[in-house]
This record gives sequence, structure tokens and C-alpha cells, in this order.
Amino acid sequence: MLLYIHVPFCRRKCRYCAFYSEASAPGSDARLASWASALLCEMRREAEALGHPSLRTVFFGGGTPSLLSPSLVGAVLDAAAGLFSLDAQAEISMEANPESMNEEKARGFRLAGVNRVSLGVQALDDALLAALGRVHDKKTALSAYSALRRAGFHNVGLDLMWGLPGQSVDNWKAQLAEAAALSPEHLSCYGLMLEEGTPFFRERENLRLPAEEEAAAMYEEGGALLEAAGYAQYEISNYAKQGFACRHNTGYWQGEEYLGLGPAAVSCTGNERRSNVADLEAWLSAVRQGKRAASVERLGFTEKAEELVMLGLRTAQGLDLAAYRALTGRDFEKDNAALIGELLRRAMAGKKDGRFFLTRKGMLVSSAVMEQCFERIPEKPEGAA
Ligand code: SF4
Repeated sequence: MLLYIHVPFCRRKCRYCAFYSEASAPGSDARLASWASALLCEMRREAEALGHPSLRTVFFGGGTPSLLSPSLVGAVLDAAAGLFSLDAQAEISMEANPESMNEEKARGFRLAGVNRVSLGVQALDDALLAALGRVHDKKTALSAYSALRRAGFHNVGLDLMWGLPGQSVDNWKAQLAEAAALSPEHLSCYGLMLEEGTPFFRERENLRLPAEEEAAAMYEEGGALLEAAGYAQYEISNYAKQGFACRHNTGYWQGEEYLGLGPAAVSCTGNERRSNVADLEAWLSAVRQGKRAASVERLGFTEKAEELVMLGLRTAQGLDLAAYRALTGRDFEKDNAALIGELLRRAMAGKKDGRFFLTRKGMLVSSAVMEQCFERIPEKPEGAA
């Protein structure tokens, strides 16, 4: 099983962000302490309910997990090791932001058990960082990266964003080249999404976003640049050196069970997807009252089939055609023959080892492809009464 821990605190909110987190405010320490004690309580309860399964990965996400102290991260990991069986080789990842990472903290996180860090750089360009509302500048990002290296981290990823207001294709490629020259083990490259409720969404008319063709060039040419630098694309937004794909996220995409703790965290076990409420106070109160989750969705045949297609097509490995047949009783290639023919003709897809996959060009339109495939999923498995 995979364990996700949601840390719902940030120094301040970035202008594009729709993840659930609260900007630090007076009284933050008390809120952090309440979060930590409720988290341990929720962890105990869930471990019990799930029968103390073994954990392959732990992922501290947020929010800004690097705002936590190393001793608190150590306490959470000790609790996890006591309540679940934690694989000796477990991948233990932490999302970190440059302004809350220095060498001393990095050493502390490593001693606490963290063995992979994903650093939220987002841009190596001060004007873009300011436009995004990030707390850090480029110099802080570079110094956090070298602090992680000096502290002995051998598995570091950089998160970057493309398709930003006023950004050119050349600007994006220059940033990618600079990032690759640092030689991180992993790079996540996310296209800017305008999410409802964010300042960027409200200001969308005035944002001067790159035109569609420019955004497509950023994705395709940027991906080619990374590939030439030794990074393999293994998912729509993720690239890694050999052996450094994120095991936690790969587990999600391969349909492994996961447990999410903390406000806004989601769990998927058995035939259920459970979501915690995205509000710190409401989550604290639910944990105090012993409630398990704010909402529970039963995963029926259609949800499972759609998930299989969606998760398969977002990875470079692609959809396992035998797994599709086993679940639905249908032949994916026959049912989607016209679409597949068109995608193959346009070099947007390929077939290998019993899998159907989208190429980088195809991944650009993956949502539209998935929608069409969903329409071909039968209402119930073929042969079922
Ligand atoms: S640091 Fe990350 S989680 Fe926090 S507001 Fe910015 S993008 Fe969102």
C-alpha cells in the first residue's frame, strides 16, 4: 500500500494554486500541533481498520511539507513504522519549497528517514516566479538544491511549470536546459492550469498566456530536450533518469491501493474511494469524533474501467490490453479501431508488448482521447448477467 500525508500549510498562497492549504498566519504553531496530533490519531485508526498493511512508499505532500520540523517528520515516520510494516527499501518522498529548505533541515529530514525530495522550483526566472506569487527567487531555489545535495540526498526532483503568462518557447527551453544541467534525478513539468477560485482564474482575461501552438511547442520541444539530456518521459508530466521514476506516483498509475491522511487527502482501498474534507478545522473535528471520511464513493464497473483507461493512457507504458479485456470482456483495439487508426497515422500513439500507448504528441490531447475511449466502455462486463 502507498501512504500519502497531506500537510496543509504554506508560507502564502501562490496565485495559480488550487491545492488545499492555508497560508501561515499568527497562531500557526498551535494549528500545526493540532494537525500533527490529529494526523497520528487518524493514522492509528486507519491502520487498525485496514489491518496494518505493509507500506511500499510514504509521500509527504501539500501544501509545503518542508515547513515541518525534521523531528516532527521523524515522529510521523516512526508512528507509520509502528502501525504498518514499512518496507526496509520504502521510498519516502517529501515535497519541499526552496524558502523552507537549507542544509541543516535537509540533513534532519534525511536522518528522519526521507530519501527522496521533490523541490518546488516552478521557474528559474525571477520575473516569472514573481508573477506566480512564489515566495522564493531563483537564487534561493538553486541554493536549496545544493543544500539537498550537500546533505546527501541522491534522489532529488525539480518541479517546473510551463505555459506561463508572457513565457516564450525559448524561455521555457532555456530554463529546462539549465535545470537539466543541474542533473536532478527527476523532473516534473506541469503546464499551467487556470483553476477556478484562484487569482489567476479571476485575472484570466489579462494574463497573456502563450497561444495554443506555442504551448504545444513547449511541451513537445521541451520533452525532446529532456530526452536528449538523458531523461525518459514516463508519464504526461514526468521525466526521470533510469531507475528514478517516482515509485509512489507510479503506484497510483498502476492502480495500487493507497491511504491518504490529513485534510483533503484521498484514499482508495477495495471498492471504495474515500475523501477527507478540504478544511483543517472540519477535518480536526471529524477526527476528534472518530469519523472516517467526509465522502465515500463506491467504485463500480464503469468507474474501474474508466480508471484503467485513464491511468494507462497517461503513462508512457500505456494501457494493458489484456487487463482491459479481463475487466470488460471487450477488445479495446476493435472497439476503438477508428480512433486508434487515426492516432497511429498521426504518430500520436503506438503499440508494444500488448499495450497501447500515447506518444508525447498524443499526450498533448490525452483528455480528448480518454473521453472517446470512455464512450466505448460497455455498461457492464460482457458476459455478465
Ligand atoms: S507552495 Fe505549493 S501548495 Fe502552497 S500555495 Fe504554492 S503551489 Fe500551492
